[in-house]
Amino acid sequence: MHNLYFTVGPSKIFPSVSKYIAEAFEHEIPSISHRGEKFQNIVHDTISRLKRLLSIPDTYRVFFLTSGTEGMERIVQNCVQTQSFHIVTGAFGTKFYNTALGYGKKAIEHRCVESSELVPTIPKGVELIAVTHNDTSTGFQFPTESLTLLKKQNPEVLVAVDVVSSIPHVVLDYSTADCVFFSIQKGFGLPAGLGVLVVSPQALEHGAAVAASGTSVGFHHSFAELIKYGDKNQTHETPNVLGVYLFEKILEEMETVGIETIRRGVDARAERLYDFFQEHADHFTLIQREKNLQSKTIVVAEVRGGSKPLIEALKKEGIVIGAGYGADKEKNIRIANFPAHTDSDLERLMAGLESALS
Ligand SMILES: *Cc1c(COP(=O)(O)O)cnc(C)c1O
Repeated sequence: MHNLYFTVGPSKIFPSVSKYIAEAFEHEIPSISHRGEKFQNIVHDTISRLKRLLSIPDTYRVFFLTSGTEGMERIVQNCVQTQSFHIVTGAFGTKFYNTALGYGKKAIEHRCVESSELVPTIPKGVELIAVTHNDTSTGFQFPTESLTLLKKQNPEVLVAVDVVSSIPHVVLDYSTADCVFFSIQKGFGLPAGLGVLVVSPQALEHGAAVAASGTSVGFHHSFAELIKYGDKNQTHETPNVLGVYLFEKILEEMETVGIETIRRGVDARAERLYDFFQEHADHFTLIQREKNLQSKTIVVAEVRGGSKPLIEALKKEGIVIGAGYGADKEKNIRIANFPAHTDSDLERLMAGLESALS
């Protein structure tokens, strides 16, 4: 029997992916030119499907990158001349903040603990507010209502949202977000190696002003190059052609199942997971205690006596869960609850946890 992965990314791969990989080889996808019509059609159809599935406005552009991490770099590079503001709810928010510092920007860090000041006052001169929708290190989920409020209070400021570990579950109102980025090895249940960046017209406009100001916006994945190649349904570099092909197949599958059904499934399994940890409060302490801040896709709990024995016991049963992030590695566990996970996967996990605890 294969191991069952509840790790936070890469994680369980959709079972159909191996079949799609075989199909890709039948159609010689790994050898086709990234300048040819066949690839251009794949890019075009993938972006159309993504926009349809997630209700991304037609006026927004979708670009392919190499990873989620690259999304942070490109947003800072293209959209910030001097000043960015970072709402930090965990290690990924810190990474975004450090990216801005790395590019010599005047970055301001606002650390959120529990629900204190989710929507702070933004100082004058800030061009971009960076938010991690779902911080995978802490399981802190930033409420989408707060995103709406943030944009409403700061309509002239760009809002960048990291949805790497919550998409496609998150229901995002794209009019509240200007730069949205993710990679495909988490909620899309695919192998790693492809990033996606969604950009609003307002962000493209500001990006053009940043470039015109003489600030370096790089070259390879500057907005200008992304647009130039994107207009031809191509990429500047030789991209992960197989990754784009597989992404389209999974989007097609999700469209068939229906995004509402997928989201309801994730919601129901999240509730069962949180209930499970609460019922076993003698062994676990949930890291996010406020319900409206609890991630639906990454459940983080502290394990009494340390997480290592539990992780090892589950591994013997063929169940792989995540350890805590960074300094919390030995203390916490992290469990991914992605669309690829089924009800019976969850049953197997909970049975495994029960027997490891007894
Ligand atoms: C995984 C993750 C990233 C980084 O994405 P990569 O594709 O690994 O570069 C960024 N933000 C969050 C919230 C993540 O979970």
